[in-house]
Amino acid sequence: MKKVMFLCLGLIALISCGEQKSKNEKAFKIPVYAWTGGPGDASDKELSEQFADYKEKGIDGLLYNGGHDPETYKRVGALVKKVGMEFHAWIPTMVQGKNPKISEDLYAHNRNGESALEKPAYVPYYTFLCPSKEGTYDFLSNLYGSVAAVPEIDGIHLDYIRFPDVILAEGLWDKYGLVMDKEYPEYDYCYCERCTGDFMEKTGIDIKTAEDASQVKEWKQFRYDLITNLVGRLAKVVHEKDKTINAAVFPGPTIAKAKVRQEWNKWDLDAVYPMNYNDFYLKGPEWVGEVVKEEVASVNGMKPIYSGLFICPNPENKSNENDPENHGLLPSEIGTAIKTSMENGATGICLFTPERMKEHWVAFEKAIYTEYTVK
Ligand SMILES: [Zn+2]
Repeated sequence: MKKVMFLCLGLIALISCGEQKSKNEKAFKIPVYAWTGGPGDASDKELSEQFADYKEKGIDGLLYNGGHDPETYKRVGALVKKVGMEFHAWIPTMVQGKNPKISEDLYAHNRNGESALEKPAYVPYYTFLCPSKEGTYDFLSNLYGSVAAVPEIDGIHLDYIRFPDVILAEGLWDKYGLVMDKEYPEYDYCYCERCTGDFMEKTGIDIKTAEDASQVKEWKQFRYDLITNLVGRLAKVVHEKDKTINAAVFPGPTIAKAKVRQEWNKWDLDAVYPMNYNDFYLKGPEWVGEVVKEEVASVNGMKPIYSGLFICPNPENKSNENDPENHGLLPSEIGTAIKTSMENGATGICLFTPERMKEHWVAFEKAIYTEYTVK
């Protein structure tokens, strides 16, 4: 009997060894990142199990949204590093809620003169700061500097590093009951005294008296540059701590410039994570590759582009679902989105989010262990 037991154990060891080997023998895997966050009330054990599961599924690094406290990143980062994944702190930039550290006059103003703090566009959390104000930089440089100093951090991941959507993505128009055929004043920022004054000084144009501010090219460029300069200053802060800096951006940058004034191809970043969320633009999974092509070309292939994929959390319900936030790639579409991203020059992909992935994991595994040729 004992012999049989030993034999069985031996067989199990052999089988699991074989499985291990075949996974290691897969010669190639594309780099995969994921947006996630927490930790809420989760224990170290629960977090470690979750991270080990993500690693096992093929995820190489997390962009982790854990608030502003460096201690959170220290604790969670240690657990993430332990399972062998990269750890980046994902912290929204221009969107900041009421905070005793932020003076109320730092918030952006729209073309009607309304403060984003008092009258945010679209949704209550759209409380954007003005990028011109020195206090905005001071707050952000302290925030990112203190988190970048955490040894367990590999990098800082900026998000909402932009103006509010002056044009909302087409897939969201129904949700908000809007037809955004042009730039409307209530969604157009920032018209505070500092922004309009600096612009006047630089160009001689009084944008407040312009007949149609949306047609003034210099004013558009001025605002792209405000964000570009802010990224450059934050990059310095993070690089001084010997950490990397990257950002979630809108696709393009053609779409990114037109909708949220991000000329991100000019930003001083170590990597870019465009949110190539096809459903928001009423497009299929093939579109992801088309936009990746533009993204890679926009940085002359000099910076890694990780193609951000929006996952449908309840695939069986997608056709009945009105809210675009619950749309996204189906299990039958994720393979195409990955393939077309890689064939158009992406360095890897990024999942929004692993928690939304259901039966997607089967097609995902097949797709990430495939070697692609750039077209
Ligand atoms: Zn301003």
